[in-house]
Amino acid sequence: MQNMEYISTRGRVEPLKFKQAVMMGLATDGGLLLPNRIPSIDQATIARWQELDYQALACEIIGLFVDDIPRATIEQIVERSYATFDTTEVTPVINTGKEYVLELFHGPTLAFKDIALQFLGNIFSLLLEEQRSCMNILGATSGDTGSAAIYGVKGKENINIFILHPKGRVSPVQALQMTTVPDKNVFNLAVEGTFDDCQNIVKEIFNDLDFKTRYRLGSINSINWARILAQVVYYIYAALKLVSRAGARRVNFSVPTGNFGDIFAGFLARRMINPLIGRLILATNENNILTRFVLEGRYSRGCVVPTISPSMDIQVASNFERYLYYLYGHRPERVRNAMEGFQAGGEIIFSQEERSQIRKDFASTSVDQEETLAAIRETYQDCGYVLDPHTAVGVAGARRLKSQILEGPMVCLATAHPAKFPDAVRKAIGREPERPESMRGLEERDVRCKVMLADTALIKKYIMENAL
Ligand SMILES: *Cc1c(COP(=O)(O)O)cnc(C)c1O
Repeated sequence: MQNMEYISTRGRVEPLKFKQAVMMGLATDGGLLLPNRIPSIDQATIARWQELDYQALACEIIGLFVDDIPRATIEQIVERSYATFDTTEVTPVINTGKEYVLELFHGPTLAFKDIALQFLGNIFSLLLEEQRSCMNILGATSGDTGSAAIYGVKGKENINIFILHPKGRVSPVQALQMTTVPDKNVFNLAVEGTFDDCQNIVKEIFNDLDFKTRYRLGSINSINWARILAQVVYYIYAALKLVSRAGARRVNFSVPTGNFGDIFAGFLARRMINPLIGRLILATNENNILTRFVLEGRYSRGCVVPTISPSMDIQVASNFERYLYYLYGHRPERVRNAMEGFQAGGEIIFSQEERSQIRKDFASTSVDQEETLAAIRETYQDCGYVLDPHTAVGVAGARRLKSQILEGPMVCLATAHPAKFPDAVRKAIGREPERPESMRGLEERDVRCKVMLADTALIKKYIMENAL
């Protein structure tokens, strides 16, 4: 087997092994880390993979990108990561009649981020154990990522986690999911301020390099390569399942998109098992920078508007640069120039040739909140299945772009359980979704949360007192 090494989109990092890439997170030259090649899977391997369950398939795929962790250890990590899910299938594929839904919300916080963060938490823990070291994770959240990150590392001896959220401004369910975790290594800070205040405090603390080194601060944000890798698995799992069971020749995916992480995993999966994945639909809510990018060939910053699919209320997509590297023909100097231009002018403009490549890689549409509610309502009326508002953006997008799909079934990624967004669901269908087992009795559990002023010095002091 050829060596698997990791490079930066901006070209100024020496090649890294997988473990180093995971510990680095963001590349030290400001870029994002990528594998130096994308393996292409042959027919015989595909036939073998079709027989595997989710966990075994995950080990095969992860094994292709990781040659510095023994196979048996990868197996243990995968087993441990998905044992917390409420179904052994991990990501079931449901046929609603009109399309397939790939349910990615069976993890402990009922959001698709669990798939990546359970895996990343276990990798971090393993690497720290090997190095006889420890880490303090610091992050800010407006909702979903915080609880998935907490559940990814709760109870781990060599990790403490500090998550800032804006007090009273995350949904009640999301706040309870974070603050009712009893493990001693979890520190929730409810900040008297906005999400931006929280993010700025976290940025300021990370920018204090002395502090960052002394307290071994780590982050768990969406740019870690291990997160993308874990997400490649379910695309291939779903595609192989439909190809073998439903007899399809190729499968299409519709992906509700915010930071471009999930759909980038789909882009990699398609390269690996070409031609089994057809179209990738990049569906956005009213925060549509990425749809404008696909349709107009121009990536330009806008203002964030709050919607009923809040985890996609993003204007600058943190994983976009990874795609840019491939679009620019593996030329890091072009990525650097483009990103510098974007920093300065808030815009990147693409050539005719690049535009046609982008439209080959993705179809895209932007779905407003009325259409999102209508998709929830129609799906419920048609087949009794309740979509969450993020998933509904993808479903509405898939229906709208139907004529662009030449062949094969459509698989819509279901990124959250509807019970996490009861208000939007009630608005659409007149009742709240049923809560799954893991969410019952949340209100009765003990809450552990420290209320703090939006003051960087005070929060640093709190971290110093509680860090490993
Ligand atoms: C994070 C999130 C998304 C967007 O995923 P990206 O990888 O940022 O594109 C979509 N839906 C839900 C429920 C999420 O939590």
